[in-house]
Amino acid sequence: MSERSTPSVKGEAAPMLVLCRHCVEYVFAGTVTCPHCGEDARVAGPRYRDGAYEAIEAMRRIEDVLGRRRR
Ligand SMILES: [Zn+2]
Repeated sequence: MSERSTPSVKGEAAPMLVLCRHCVEYVFAGTVTCPHCGEDARVAGPRYRDGAYEAIEAMRRIEDVLGRRRR
């Protein structure tokens, strides 16, 4: 057996991904400094605003909540 040291997340929710509001790449929820662009992932940049990503994110959140309730 060659089991690598992958962190097990038993009993925990999978890490949630959110969009970096600066470069619009996926980062883990709660990330402050974006690993992609090095900027503050919470501060909306022009690309984020122009692409209506805020609306997309909101819809994803609603779908997520609805999906959980159905189970
Ligand atoms: Zn970024």
